[in-house]
Amino acid sequence: MNPRRIKRLSAVLTNQIAAGEVVERPASVVKELLENSIDAGATQVDIDIEQGGIKSIIIRDDGSGIHKDDLPLALSRHATSKIYSLEELETVGSLGFRGEALPSISSVSRLELKTRFIDDETGWKVRADGRDDVLDLEPVAHPVGTTIAVHDLFFNTPARRKFLRTEKTEFTHLEEVVKRMALGRFDLGLQLKHNGKQVFRLPAATDQLSMEKRVATICGKAFIDSAVHVEMSAAGLTLRGWVGLPTFTRSQADLQYFFVNGRMVKDRLVTHAIRQAYQDVIYHGRHPAYVLYLSLDPALVDVNVHPAKSEVRFREGRLVHDFLFRSLHDALAQVKPEQLVGKESSSPALNLTSSMSGTMAASRPEQQHMSLAVQESRPAYQSVFSAPSPRTGGMDAGFAMAAAQSPAEQERVPPLGFAIAQLKGIYILAENEQGMVLVDMHAAHERITYERMKTALEGEGIRAQPLLVPIMVAVSERESRLVEENPELFSQFGFELDVMGPETIAVRQVPALLREAEVSELIRDVLSDLVELGSSTRIQEKRNEILATMACHGSVRANRRLTIAEMNALLRDMERTERSGQCNHGRPTWVQLGLGELDKLFLRGQ
Ligand code: ADP
Ligand code: MG
Repeated sequence: MNPRRIKRLSAVLTNQIAAGEVVERPASVVKELLENSIDAGATQVDIDIEQGGIKSIIIRDDGSGIHKDDLPLALSRHATSKIYSLEELETVGSLGFRGEALPSISSVSRLELKTRFIDDETGWKVRADGRDDVLDLEPVAHPVGTTIAVHDLFFNTPARRKFLRTEKTEFTHLEEVVKRMALGRFDLGLQLKHNGKQVFRLPAATDQLSMEKRVATICGKAFIDSAVHVEMSAAGLTLRGWVGLPTFTRSQADLQYFFVNGRMVKDRLVTHAIRQAYQDVIYHGRHPAYVLYLSLDPALVDVNVHPAKSEVRFREGRLVHDFLFRSLHDALAQVKPEQLVGKESSSPALNLTSSMSGTMAASRPEQQHMSLAVQESRPAYQSVFSAPSPRTGGMDAGFAMAAAQSPAEQERVPPLGFAIAQLKGIYILAENEQGMVLVDMHAAHERITYERMKTALEGEGIRAQPLLVPIMVAVSERESRLVEENPELFSQFGFELDVMGPETIAVRQVPALLREAEVSELIRDVLSDLVELGSSTRIQEKRNEILATMACHGSVRANRRLTIAEMNALLRDMERTERSGQCNHGRPTWVQLGLGELDKLFLRGQ
């Protein structure tokens, strides 16, 4: 055994250790430098990359520049111009504030910084190359602003250099960082070049149209074409941006941008709230796409949680969760036919061109067989829902009522038009002002039934089912305390829980609808949500899942003949029903084929 004495680390080594957290790869260098340019009030930033950023990263901005006397400080650790006190930290508005980026980067690369301070006559240049002192300070010609060049990243830390991937992979990461910044700051002009070739040039965007153009450049035109714009405020929170319709989903969570006061974050609470808003309309295993901006009082969010500041902590997490969920849930529920038929070549579902090229069709999942047995769901379905009406031959009463609509209403052409015929027992063919509408009868009716069942259930209240043999659930101490302190959390849904010991709960009664569900797993999941997020909607989700299955079985099957009146009634029901653009599995329920598109098919007017 060789006991070692304690020594203070050298400044360079300290910086190299810090660099371990802040500088993972070229992309992280670009992130830090871009943030600095933004904090310096730049309006235009040009980025030149060589070999994926491994050889060099050069970033030029027209920001305020750095005062000559501050240059040695800019490159030393724990030195910043952004906060001077704890009070300022608590309401920090800049992207940086830790004073770590430049010293970290310069300790693992050859860095050259040229700058001219806003009211200085000349520019100045410094160099650092992973050694202790800032080297020669010399005058240089430079416009107001700053240019930072980072060469040979990790040249002096070979172990870390080995972790770098191919040029192409590194560039992909780097490009993603630039895209995030471009989405975070529309007022900033950005240019990115790789190996001398321009990758993109984004002029500053100030109005809605040019913002959407930028979003289209970054996220693809298909996204912006099938997204709804949201803008909502409540309780000091504002949410703006674009959310993809449930029919525009991704196989990966790769088109999800969320900004909190201009800072892009990946946050569990946020992801959870958004996921929940889509829960009812998105196909299982698919991911929603969104570009969203949350603004709130900086004092209500802690950004100093993570060295790269990609995580945040909300002072009032539950409020934020609720606000996000509610805003997006409502925005998605309100997408009704009349908002979409006006758009050229669009429906909530797809536009003709994209379905023809096969991109969406290929990614749309097949309808899956439901696991719940029909017999089990039938009685519950009937109790929630009125018995089939003989007049409409199996269709529900509300449906029949809608068929008898007033003549006045019929005069103006409704958004989904009037039915003309039924096609192959599957589709309804209708004519509206724009042209032709095709409706998937089963999918549409399923959504209507489902929404109606949910409303009926909420009105009727929860029916509970006592268990002869209680189910024992093993939980943590913290979780059993939660149950004890908040009995209404479960009882409001018809559960009766008893805390038997610090780590055991007995379930004595369950909501009738959840009888068949995996009760102990559900309760454990709810509790872990409560511990982590402060709220849970799993019980409602589970309930809705079961309702959806019942709705699927209770809806008009293919090959059932409908009269024109019944078809029109279905169309009117769709116009009234929330989320009627997608069936319960997230598949589209209708498509619009405008006259323009029909003309194109026949090469008319070309
Ligand atoms: P932080 O951004 O956390 O303050 P950095 O190490 O990234 O720390 O930067 C240190 C300081 O250098 C900043 O506080 C800022 O004053 C100055 N600085 C860095 N980059 C720029 C730039 N592009 N324009 C103007 N000042 C800059
Ligand atoms: Mg910084």
